This record gives sequence, C-alpha cells and structure tokens, in this order.
Amino acid sequence: MIPLFSDVAMNRNLDFLGAVKKVLDRHWYVLGEEVTGFESEFADYVGVGYCVSMANGTDAIEIALRSVGVESGDLVVTVANAGFYSSTAIHAVGATPLYVDINPSCMTMSVDALAEALKFKPKCVIVTHLYGQMANIKELLALAHAAGVMLIEDCAQSHGAKTDGHQAGSWGDAACFSFYPTKNLGAMGDGGAVVTNNDELAARLKTLRQYGWSSKYHVGHAGGKNSRLDEMQAAILRIKLPLLDSWNASRRDIAFRYNEAFANLGFDALPSVDDSFAAHLYVARIQNRDAFREFLKSEGVATDVHYPVPDHWQAAYTQPRVAGSMEVTDSSCKNLVTLPCFPGMADEAVDTVIAAVKKYFEQ
Ligand SMILES: *Cc1c(COP(=O)(O)O)cnc(C)c1O
Repeated sequence: MIPLFSDVAMNRNLDFLGAVKKVLDRHWYVLGEEVTGFESEFADYVGVGYCVSMANGTDAIEIALRSVGVESGDLVVTVANAGFYSSTAIHAVGATPLYVDINPSCMTMSVDALAEALKFKPKCVIVTHLYGQMANIKELLALAHAAGVMLIEDCAQSHGAKTDGHQAGSWGDAACFSFYPTKNLGAMGDGGAVVTNNDELAARLKTLRQYGWSSKYHVGHAGGKNSRLDEMQAAILRIKLPLLDSWNASRRDIAFRYNEAFANLGFDALPSVDDSFAAHLYVARIQNRDAFREFLKSEGVATDVHYPVPDHWQAAYTQPRVAGSMEVTDSSCKNLVTLPCFPGMADEAVDTVIAAVKKYFEQ
C-alpha cells in the first residue's frame, strides 16, 4: 500500500541519535540551548524578529490569541474548512469563532467574506494557509488592518510557502506553526511556535507559555499556561530545518507530475504549483468520492479527506456564528480527496498513483 505520508525515506541518512545523546548528556530537558538555538534559526528562516516555541500548534494559536488581547466573549474570524484547530484555540480562550466562507480556487479565506465579517467588530482574524498554498494574505491583511483588527496567520501547513518572496508567517501581526510529525517541518513528537516582528507581543508570548511568569515564580500576566518545546524535539528540528526547502521542492515535483498527468482527465486538482506552494497536501475535488477512494485502495493507493466535517457542523458546538453564506465550504467538503505526496516518495510510487487515477477514469 502506498501511504499518504511516510517519513522513512525522508529521515534516512540523518543522524538524530548524536543530537539526542547530546541533550541526554547535558541533563537539561526543557527550554535550554537547543530551544534557544532553534528559535533563532527558525526566526531567521521565516524572516522575522522573534520565534517563541510552544508545545504544539494549537497551543501556539491559543497563546497568540491571548497575546493580542483576545478575551472571553470576543469574536474571532476564521474559516471552517481547516480541521477545527483554530476553533479549538478560539474556544479555549472563551471567545467565539465567526466563520466565513472560502474562495473556491484556493480553498482559503474569501476577501469579500472577510469584508462582510468585519462589520461584526471582531477582535482578531486567523488566516489559514491551507494545504501548503498561501491565502490572499496581502488583501486580507490590508482589510483587517484598515478596520483596526489584528491578523494571525496559521502556517501549520505552509512552512516555507511564499508570497512575493516573503515567507508565510512574516505577514501577520503574529503567525503560528505546528511541528507535528507529518507537517512540512516535523518533530518526532509534538511541537509548535509563534513568530512575530513585534517586541511587545514577543515578550508577552514568552511569559504566557510559562504560567504568565514575568520572572521565576512571579506571575505578572494573567492567562498563562504551560506550553513549552522540549530540548530533544528542538535538537531534532535543528537537524531538519536546513533540509526544509529541498523537501518542499520534492513535494512540489510530485504535485507537478500529478498536475501534468491529470490535466485532461476532468480531475479537479487544486494546487497551483509554483515556488509559493509548499505542497503540504495534494488535494483534488471529485464526484463520487467514495467510489474513487475504494478503487484507489484496491489499486494499493491510500487516500484521505482534509477535512470531511466543516467546523460549523461539528456535533459538540450547536450554535455556530457565521457571517454570510458558507456555500463553498459546505459543498466542497463532500468532494475533497487527498493523494499521497511526501518527500522521498519513490518515482515508481508516483507512477502507481498516476496509473491508478487514470485507470479509474478509463473504466
Ligand atoms: C496541524 C494543524 C494545526 C495544529 O497543530 P498541532 O500541533 O497538531 O496542535 C493547526 N492548524 C492547521 C492548519 C494544522 O494543519
């Protein structure tokens, strides 16, 4: 079976044991020199002043929301097609998600929908760069800032994606990353970070990730929690970061081969493959999705759906707030399918996926 993702080939020939042993020999496990080193290297990579690492990507969004002053009762604008991660963080601070629709071509926040939502006077906007494609960040940012509203980027699927030569994560007031193992930059466990150019936000983020401490055992800021990256994950991320651009390039090559092969099939592929695309997931729209997935499975190809249930239809939250129509979100979630695309995926495996998709359309 060709899996959706595998880090076996990706991690081959990399020495993680040496780096982990150094951490073990140092006997310093949390917020030490590996974390400091990774934070400065990752800030340089994104092209921002500060990186504050955290325990995972969802905590990163929650703490970023707190750092920009979002409180209980506030509205936070977000999309509903990105796996409930931003919604989890918004609920965790006691705020309310205000869902808006997406643009059908890129599946990220619609500029018109944001304009509509800003009339409700939200405290903040979270823009998710989904599948490795950047949202229309320039227009979204201009709109939000003109209304005096802070903008947080969710870059958990877009490490290394660019707009006009500037990285995902360098546009918003703050930006959140996840280093979950399957992400474009993944640890061997959980990890996350918030990046920013704003000195004050960076200082607040550092206190909020550690109990709200202004100094050891002195709580100077309300709303803190414990969310720290550990030294072993940081050491592993420092080995992987220099390889991120080449891994993204090989993800893009696979997406490019798929796009070429599927061009005349009537298969509605989403990725526009240029340098701005980090190719986190290769997603297409297809009628009769279940039949397609069954067929690919019988040909030895794993598929998945990102994501089957929009946030405003999740069973645990029964009275969602939406601004305007959610038609694109609602209609597309029934047709989305994700194909295998990961660095180190063998050429023959890519051939097998292409042959299986073609066979489905020829039958
Ligand atoms: C993975 C992901 C997150 C959350 O990251 P975790 O580290 O799993 O908490 C947030 N947003 C998006 C878009 C993601 O894909």
